[in-house]
Amino acid sequence: MKIVLNRLKTLEIVEQEPLIPDIPDGSVRVEVLCCAVCRTDAKMWEQGHRDLILPRIPGHEMVVRDTDGNRFMVWPGTNCTTCSYCRQGLENLCEKMKIIGFHHDGGFASHVVVPSRNLIPLSAGLDNHTACFGEPVGCIINAFEKIEYKKKSRLLIYGGGTMGLAAALYAKSIGLQPLVIEKRESKIHHVRAFLDAAGICCEKDTLDNEFDLIINACPDVIAFCQAVSKVARAGWICFFSGIAKNETIDTNLVNLIHYKEAKLAGAYGMTRTHMEKAIPFITSHQSYLKLLIQDIVPPHRLPALMPKVLSGSNLKYILDFTLAFRDSSIEISHQAPVQPMGIDTAAGCFTVD
Ligand SMILES: [Zn+2]
Ligand SMILES: [Zn+2]
Repeated sequence: MKIVLNRLKTLEIVEQEPLIPDIPDGSVRVEVLCCAVCRTDAKMWEQGHRDLILPRIPGHEMVVRDTDGNRFMVWPGTNCTTCSYCRQGLENLCEKMKIIGFHHDGGFASHVVVPSRNLIPLSAGLDNHTACFGEPVGCIINAFEKIEYKKKSRLLIYGGGTMGLAAALYAKSIGLQPLVIEKRESKIHHVRAFLDAAGICCEKDTLDNEFDLIINACPDVIAFCQAVSKVARAGWICFFSGIAKNETIDTNLVNLIHYKEAKLAGAYGMTRTHMEKAIPFITSHQSYLKLLIQDIVPPHRLPALMPKVLSGSNLKYILDFTLAFRDSSIEISHQAPVQPMGIDTAAGCFTVD
């Protein structure tokens, strides 16, 4: 089966197995076990894009299996390998970058053709659903490589969605003190189980200032402006999420970057290596990451999910192609985390009491 974006807001489910396509040299046809739904997919569905040619099968956060039964994550980039960026190991910045699920057909299908070099073997202890976090966590690892920090650095993250929370979890694992700001009270409530298990503090706002590191994990321009005003002198801002288009930013605010000698680092996507680096973290934090899964659903439920994904009020939806002929979603096995990570007072809330 495959789920095809034929035109804006129209995903068509094609049940029959497609004919086996011509497979280019260096590529392989693999079975898709599951594929997470990303906000990017929902934006393609709603708005299209200048470079998006329809019809297209979306999906870039996938876990696949080859004919020998080996399981893999798929790095979703296809880079030229020869431009100056590729030669520097910055293949996410390749001049000719093409993305699987955007420029090429992706993982919203029972099978996908991908370059063999994009396959990243999964460790035996990592389950298929949690392994869908490979791409988002790879992006997070790229972001943390773009900034400098010390143990106990005070980190502020704007946005309590899947990315912001997974970034906070990763930050804790490397010894930082994250505080997440999420303006929607209902969303904080929605992610309470994750916050409690991971010992992460999430507030609607903070009066505190002088954060060593700030990451924007939401497209809100106000969050970006607050990041500039709340960063410490000589601190780092990681420009992780693009911000809403056609907004204006006050130059008085931009000047703060100058006066504070703040450092601004863009982070965009990730390389194959970042995705490989994600595997040990995902494997050791599976029980927490599972709490960021909203639902695991049979693929034919995808069209109805798109408005929910777009709303940003839910966590990660995962399409499970092994459920293709079932109606219901499956129970997520939320084994209790081995041990809650706990909020040590120094690492927890540093908002004003
Ligand atoms: Zn994504
Ligand atoms: Zn290149």
